[in-house]
Amino acid sequence: MDIFSELESSAQCYADSFPVVFSHARGAHLYDEEGNDYLDFLAGAGSLNYGHNHPVLKEALLDYIRDDGIAHSLDMHTVAKARFMTAFRDRILAPRGFDYRLQFTGPTGTNAVEAALKLARKAKSRASVIAFTNGFHGATLGALAATGNQHHRGGAGMPLVHVDRMPYAGYLGRDGDTLRYLDRMLSDPSSGIDRPAAVIVETVQGEGGLNTGSNAWLQGLEHLCRKHDMLLIVDDIQAGCGRTGTFFSFEESGIHPDLVTLSKSLSGYGLPMALLLYRPELDLWKPGEHNGTFRGNNHAFVTAAAALEHFWADDRFAESVRAKAALLGQGLRRLSERFGVARLRVKGRGLMQGLECPDGETATHISRAAFARGLIIETSGNRGQVLKCLCPLTITEDELRDGLQRLAASVAEVLTGHQAARIS
Ligand code: PLP
Repeated sequence: MDIFSELESSAQCYADSFPVVFSHARGAHLYDEEGNDYLDFLAGAGSLNYGHNHPVLKEALLDYIRDDGIAHSLDMHTVAKARFMTAFRDRILAPRGFDYRLQFTGPTGTNAVEAALKLARKAKSRASVIAFTNGFHGATLGALAATGNQHHRGGAGMPLVHVDRMPYAGYLGRDGDTLRYLDRMLSDPSSGIDRPAAVIVETVQGEGGLNTGSNAWLQGLEHLCRKHDMLLIVDDIQAGCGRTGTFFSFEESGIHPDLVTLSKSLSGYGLPMALLLYRPELDLWKPGEHNGTFRGNNHAFVTAAAALEHFWADDRFAESVRAKAALLGQGLRRLSERFGVARLRVKGRGLMQGLECPDGETATHISRAAFARGLIIETSGNRGQVLKCLCPLTITEDELRDGLQRLAASVAEVLTGHQAARIS
């Protein structure tokens, strides 16, 4: 029995899908302890947008550690934090005309979501929040209440309260107007909905199966937030940091959320770091009121600042992401046309696209077949039916084509295998 089977909690899950022991990683490649090479279309579930061990980020971190830079400082001021905040202001906020306060929360995404929900409730003195079908916002109790998936919710062991669920864009089918429904529920004093403090939304539902809210839908949602005096929280933990081809996933829509959560790829190096952005007038916390020992990870500040300075000084990186997103979309559409659009539907946006299979079992078989071909790709969606391509944004076009070829071979193996079984 290996050490993992002997001691590790049954809560682990990715290791079941990819049962090897990894030892090294560079760019879009992972290597196991036997030296096998895998193309990484999972990228730490979106935490490695700049790939594994990017040399610029690695050098910045090594220099900082070598110079005995501060590793831990609670929320005290450090040179590393100042450098990150300056880079974030100059490279991200100022060019987009955004004026947000920066709150460093505990280090994971769910910590930023908890802070966002707490602050919104405090600001509006209302408990209720609206979240959407198939939304995923984290596994701590407040964020879990906003998460739709029963599998995750089932782990709570207590009622998950003060969240009203509304249909996400497209949930009611082509003709169903989800915003009209939301407006009606909020306008009718007898609908049974408590007046919400806020709406929390993903522009692309990462864990929920790559459902997307169009620009018009997001604009309509913002309008309803203003109309019904609700704060708009965009959870950009998975779709942000360049994943959809702009730094924030909502930029193209022109909306201006009141609060934004970021984590995953913010540090750029896979180091834990989370950030809540909010409008200055929402700066209502008393000092230490939302506390935590690890609010601000200096090593993450160093790599995050290096990432912002290296990748976001101009639009070249974002343009390259958009070009690769077009390539990915083309490849997936070709696959979908080959096997029937009804059987394999292309979903998502940017470098966050995938294929919806007829069911979760098929998607799992394809993921396994891909792993056998040295491609790491996971499933998402309410029934695990959506294969999600989440490669590093720094992947080369050749690597992307290579990954698509491995995926196509895996799809062919599983789908034609199924056909053969049905014919016989
Ligand atoms: N919000 C979104 C949109 C996510 O995709 C995730 C994680 O997948 C989270 C929140 C939770 O982040 P973490 O797992 O770091 O707590």
